[in-house]
Amino acid sequence: MIHAIVNFFKQRFFSKPMSIEPMSEDHKKYLMQTVSFYRNLAFEDRTKFESRCQSFIANTQFIGHELNVSEHDKLLIASASVILAWGFKRWEYVRVDTVYLVARSFNENSEFGANDSNITGLVGTHHLRGKMILVQSALHQGFSNDNDKRNVAIHEFAHLIDMADGDIDGLPSQLTSQAFALPWFSLIQEKIQRIDSGHSDIRNYGATNNAEFFSVVTEYFFERPKMLKRRHPILYKALESFYKQNHADTLIGTRLRKKGPCPCGSGKRYKRCCMV
Ligand SMILES: [Zn+2]
Ligand SMILES: [Zn+2]
Repeated sequence: MIHAIVNFFKQRFFSKPMSIEPMSEDHKKYLMQTVSFYRNLAFEDRTKFESRCQSFIANTQFIGHELNVSEHDKLLIASASVILAWGFKRWEYVRVDTVYLVARSFNENSEFGANDSNITGLVGTHHLRGKMILVQSALHQGFSNDNDKRNVAIHEFAHLIDMADGDIDGLPSQLTSQAFALPWFSLIQEKIQRIDSGHSDIRNYGATNNAEFFSVVTEYFFERPKMLKRRHPILYKALESFYKQNHADTLIGTRLRKKGPCPCGSGKRYKRCCMV
């Protein structure tokens, strides 16, 4: 009897809060063309990726400034969140309430078009917690180039993970419980010194402070895992155990070739399938 009551409540209150629509075929094609992480997933995992994206989109408000937010914009923003949280059991801290998509980069005073207007992404703190701003062109550029170790949406969501414990310090709370927590800061210091001396392939912005370092190497980790593992094995190991993802060894690296088989598994050529 008690079991029956418990089950009744479980079904009632612990089932999914709202039913999420399955992703349209058009949107799956878009992910196949644009998001290499998705393309490299096994078939069953793609379905999981799609439903997580749908859930992110259903629970997030998108506001455009000088532009209309397209469905593709939303898919890319959702993808960044899903990618970072892929190995986590809970992913609330890779979520935001509102994403503002803007047409132009801005400066620290939120001015567009000034000489120093070079910011392409931002996550809010204090009273702006839960808000994210992204420049539309930078968002798309982040996914269209998989080689430059840059992806602004991944960068900003990494800040969000970092600040989940209350501090933006390049040390997410989850890292502190790991065996490598103590050497983490000295590793960062060492890597930042290398950047400052001009002898690093980690981009300069990572030397700004520990928090920027964490976000910049997260971009590197997801865009060029094999290279990061080869050139920075200890750093790679730390990020691998933090994100619980190991793409240096598992990434198939499916290339999109017009005449090759479509990565969606249809058996057709790519140019006759998801490319169109
Ligand atoms: Zn940053
Ligand atoms: Zn296809």
